[in-house]
Amino acid sequence: MQIGCPKEIKPQEFRVGLTPAAAAEAAAHGHQVLVEAGAGLGAGFSDEDYLAAGARIAPDAAAIYGDCELIVKVKEPQPAERAMLRRGQVLFAYLHLAPDPEQTRDLLACGVTAIAYETVTDMRGALPLLAPMSEVAGRLAPQVGAWALQKANGGRGVLLGGVPGVGPANVLIIGGGVVGAAAARVAVGMGANVTVMDRSLPRLSWLDDNFMGKLATRHASAAATAELVQAADMVVGAVLVPGAATPKLLSRAALATMPRGAVLVDVAIDQGGCFETSRPTTHQDPIYEVDGVIHYCVANMPGAVARTSTQALGNATLPFLLALADKGWRRALADDAHLRAGLSTHEGQLTSPPVGEALGMAA
Ligand code: NAD
Repeated sequence: MQIGCPKEIKPQEFRVGLTPAAAAEAAAHGHQVLVEAGAGLGAGFSDEDYLAAGARIAPDAAAIYGDCELIVKVKEPQPAERAMLRRGQVLFAYLHLAPDPEQTRDLLACGVTAIAYETVTDMRGALPLLAPMSEVAGRLAPQVGAWALQKANGGRGVLLGGVPGVGPANVLIIGGGVVGAAAARVAVGMGANVTVMDRSLPRLSWLDDNFMGKLATRHASAAATAELVQAADMVVGAVLVPGAATPKLLSRAALATMPRGAVLVDVAIDQGGCFETSRPTTHQDPIYEVDGVIHYCVANMPGAVARTSTQALGNATLPFLLALADKGWRRALADDAHLRAGLSTHEGQLTSPPVGEALGMAA
């Protein structure tokens, strides 16, 4: 099969849908791989890397969309890209259709078979193509929080791990899922005094077992949050309520009880954020201050480490990509209910009931 990987055109997107390693795997399976010139540069992969992997380089996106049966990319297609998609073609990418009626209409109108990364499931009912980005954002959270805690960045001038004779910083992580556990791992590794809150007791048990005494767990409640933020140097917001808006777990009034120069890292900002005073920021201007508390609220944190993120995403998408290319999309989806859960549009039909419900369309 002819597999195509265009360069991402969404602003500030440096990831790419196919690594040279994945291109080599696809080529070894007998597929022809076409990569747009310069597509991998933002993630540190040159055209020569793709050529060495057995891919060919296309001069522009039109050549990719024109020639290829399977298009693999990272972000949802932008309007100019949607204009090039067509019936009979398979698109495999993050789509996030529920809040995006315009994109949904375009994908239906062009007839493409679109499979969304974010709704592919695994045996535990988890989302294996979202998890790698949560792992990246979670591991980044203490790193960016430690930077914001430095005096020059407005923070209270506290070193996360302390030094001999001076205690470590207190890090409170609200939400102990994929992001929260990844954040805990790095914060513990940096020597901080870490507490993770979650409303799920089984999840707290899992954290307790896996971290073997290296962190404290607390059942999430408004009272526990109010108590713990008073001594927190850094609070990481990592909650998710699937299908619902993120609850606001820290009010503006609570900021007054926190140490001056403490830092909030709201990873959940892409779903609205879990602190009342959060608003989305960018990698160019990542932090702002409210009532003496520094806020970091970058909505696409994995973009800061585009190379790692590309590799992590590629590792997770590759088995599905190979199944689609080896078997054809119909057989691949018939054989795998988890991949089938990603099917969003096909020949003008909306095939994702949650998207239909969100947009008031038949599915
Ligand atoms: P997850 O489902 O693995 O974990 C969420 C956790 O939150 C669960 O353990 C759940 O029990 C807990 N929770 C729910 N309500 C709670 C409450 N009221 N109090 C305490 N805990 C509560 O989700 P995840 O993959 O860890 O993602 C967390 C958030 O991070 C999501 O909003 C996700 O979209 C976001 N995210 C952001 C970025 C970014 O770049 N900013 C990147 C990846 C993920």
